[in-house]
Amino acid sequence: MSDTLLQRSLAAVWHPCTQMKQHETLPLVPIVRGEGAWLIDAGGRRLLDGISSWWVNLFGHCNPRINAALREQLDTLEHVLLAGFTHPPVVELSERLAALTGGRLGHAFYASDGASATEIALKMSAHYWRNRGEPQKCRFLSLEGSYHGETVGALAVTDVALFRDAYAPLVKPGRTVPVPDPRRAQAGESAAALARRAAAALEAHLEAHHHETAALIVEPLVQGAAGMVMYDAEYLRLARALCDRFRVHLIADEIAVGCGRTGSFFAWEQVAGPAAQGEAACAWPDFICLSKGISGGYLPLSLVLSTDEIYRAFYDDSSARAFLHSHSYTGNPLACRAALATLDIFAADDVITTNRARAQKMGELAQAQLGAHPAVRHLRQTGMILAFDVDRAPADFARRFFAAGLEHGVLLRPIGNTVYFMPPYVLDEAELQHLVDAAAAALAAALG
Ligand SMILES: *Cc1c(COP(=O)(O)O)cnc(C)c1O
Repeated sequence: MSDTLLQRSLAAVWHPCTQMKQHETLPLVPIVRGEGAWLIDAGGRRLLDGISSWWVNLFGHCNPRINAALREQLDTLEHVLLAGFTHPPVVELSERLAALTGGRLGHAFYASDGASATEIALKMSAHYWRNRGEPQKCRFLSLEGSYHGETVGALAVTDVALFRDAYAPLVKPGRTVPVPDPRRAQAGESAAALARRAAAALEAHLEAHHHETAALIVEPLVQGAAGMVMYDAEYLRLARALCDRFRVHLIADEIAVGCGRTGSFFAWEQVAGPAAQGEAACAWPDFICLSKGISGGYLPLSLVLSTDEIYRAFYDDSSARAFLHSHSYTGNPLACRAALATLDIFAADDVITTNRARAQKMGELAQAQLGAHPAVRHLRQTGMILAFDVDRAPADFARRFFAAGLEHGVLLRPIGNTVYFMPPYVLDEAELQHLVDAAAAALAAALG
C-alpha cells in the first residue's frame, strides 16, 4: 500500500523546498496518523516531531481540545467572505490578540500564509507613507540572512541566496544591514557591544536613506531560516529608537518566533517588557506578523496587527486611500476557531510558565549529551528553540542527518550544518530525552 502511495505522490505531487530527483534515493515518508508529538508512518513507525512540522504545531497532532472546537465550528459556519461580513471567531480572535499586545496593536488584517502577511505589512507601510504625502518612502530594509517568505514580494526582504537567486530578475530587492550574530563577534566583544556595532550600521544606513525607506522588517530575537541566529534584544531596542528618530516603520515578523516560541507570547515582550506593563522599556513595533503556530498547526492562517496611527491613515472617504488587499479565505472561521482554541490552551495551561521548565530541561539534556561532542559548536537556546552548528560537516550533512534521524525515531531537518530542535510544547521528560538521544545517534551516523 505504502509503496504505491509513494509512487503516486512522486508522480502527482510537486513537493515544496525539494529537488524532486533526490527522491530517487531518499524515500518520501508516508504519514498516516498523528498523536501528540508523534507522527506515525504507514509501516507503524513512530517519529517524534522535533520541528513541529515546520514550526507550526504547538500542542501536538490531533489535539483533542482543538479538534473539539473545530468540530463545533464545522457544524456552525465553515466560511463566509470577510468583505462586508463578519463572524464571531474573527472578532474574538482580533480582540484577544489586541489584548495580548496591551492594546497597542489593535487592528488585525488577515491572510492565509506567512509570506502574504509579510507582503501585507510591506504594502501597508508604503501605502501609509503615500497616504501621508510621502510616496517616495517605499523601500524596505531587512537584516542580513533574513527570511520573510518566498513569494515574489516577500523575496524582496528575504536574504537567503538559495531561495532568492533564481528569481532575482523578478524581485525589486530591498537593502540589508548587519545582524548582530554572536558567532561573528570580535574577540572580547560583549553581546551589548555587538548590538551597538550593528545598530551603528543601521543608523548610518537610515541617515543616508530614511527619506526613501518605508520600513525595517526583522525576525525578533531569532532568525529562523538563516540557521537559528540568536541575537541580543538590545539591538531591537536600539533599532526601535532609530526607526522612531528617522520616521521609518518597524515590522516585527513573529511568524516563527511568536506564539510562545521564544519564552514569551510575543518575542517583542523580551524587548519592551510584558505587554500588560504600562511603562515599556521601548516602543512596540508598528506591525506584528503572525502565522505558523497561531492556528496550533491546524489550518493556514496569518495576520498583521497594526496600530491606531497606521489604521487612521487609511480611514477616509476615498477608496484609493483604503488598504487594498484581499484573499479569498481572509479570516476563515475554521482557521480563526483553531486559533481561539490555541489561545485557550495558552491561558488554561499557563503555557508560557510551564514551557520555562520544559525549555530548561531540553537545554540541560542537550548540554549533557551534545555539549562536549567534539563536532558541536555554538550550542544555543532561546525558549523552545535549541540549535547547534556541526563542525567539519560533510556537504550532504543535512540529508544524512535527516535520514539517520528517521531511523532513530525523530523528525529533524538541519539547515545546512545547523541542527535545531523546535518541538511542540507538549514533550514530557522522556520525550525530551528521546529527542536528544536520537539527535546524538543521528549526529554520529551523519558524521560516521
Ligand atoms: C515561515 C516564515 C515565513 C513565511 O511563512 P509561509 O507561511 O511559509 O509563507 C515568513 N517569515 C518567517 C520568519 C518565517 O519563519
